[in-house]
Amino acid sequence: MLRRGEKIAVAISGGKDSAAMLHVLAKMARKIGGITLVPLLIDEGISGYRDKAISKARILCKEHGLDLRVKSYEDFAGFTLDEMIELRNASKDPGLSTLRACTICGIFRRYLINKASLEIGADKVAVGHNADDVAQTFLMNILRADPEGLERFGPLASGEDGGGKFVPRIKPLIYVPERECALYCEFKGLPYHLGECPNSREAFRGLVKDFLNEGEAKHPGLKFNVLNSFLRFKKICSRADKEKQAYRICPRCKMNSATGGICKACALKEKLRIESTKRKASNSYR
Ligand code: SF4
Ligand code: ZN
Repeated sequence: MLRRGEKIAVAISGGKDSAAMLHVLAKMARKIGGITLVPLLIDEGISGYRDKAISKARILCKEHGLDLRVKSYEDFAGFTLDEMIELRNASKDPGLSTLRACTICGIFRRYLINKASLEIGADKVAVGHNADDVAQTFLMNILRADPEGLERFGPLASGEDGGGKFVPRIKPLIYVPERECALYCEFKGLPYHLGECPNSREAFRGLVKDFLNEGEAKHPGLKFNVLNSFLRFKKICSRADKEKQAYRICPRCKMNSATGGICKACALKEKLRIESTKRKASNSYR
């Protein structure tokens, strides 16, 4: 996943997985030489949660002599995630009111990680998805009848097929179970924030996570079976789909767009802006 001469953006959150990932990558980069790491943190604007994690991330970066870059939803979209959820709750637009917090969050996080990695001039971006995350995402997409969502989800998701504005993503922790990431952080004494996002109770992921944890307790190896099925599924699909889809460009922000129309981040930003304008107008009317 790493080559000498490369610049790697490392997406960290202040949590255990990305702390373990940054620590290992920094060690490897020192050993291999000629690799530049640029830690990157996306601040969603979740009060009482992400702010605590950011301070842990800063300590970790300092320990490795790395400068942390922070990009926020507020700077990009004009609202923190907390404000976006308020707007969603007040909205009558089904395209906004039915969105789960994690869906809103995921759209902007993926977008900003890619955008910031491009700005840095990174050759790749490392994300801290562990074996549990990947097994969960695979099952979630199957349960939602959205296998297309897995198209660019894998150990090395690349954008080399269409010259699109997509920085290839690497997942160095894909074979590491979540509990081992936590053990590693404890063993190495790494600073990380242990806490749960207040929005996670809304998450569909929680349901799938519980299912996999219960299954694993009764049938050890179940999570790895799901993970390996996913990796085999990717192989079968890439063989079947030799003609790769060219990337299409969002006419508004000129970044990638799955459909060639306005991308999901631009569309959602617009909905939030309209909702906020409506709210301001009705407040001033009162
Ligand atoms: Fe975002 Fe959901 Fe994760 Fe919270 S749990 S940080 S809302 S994706
Ligand atoms: Zn766009």
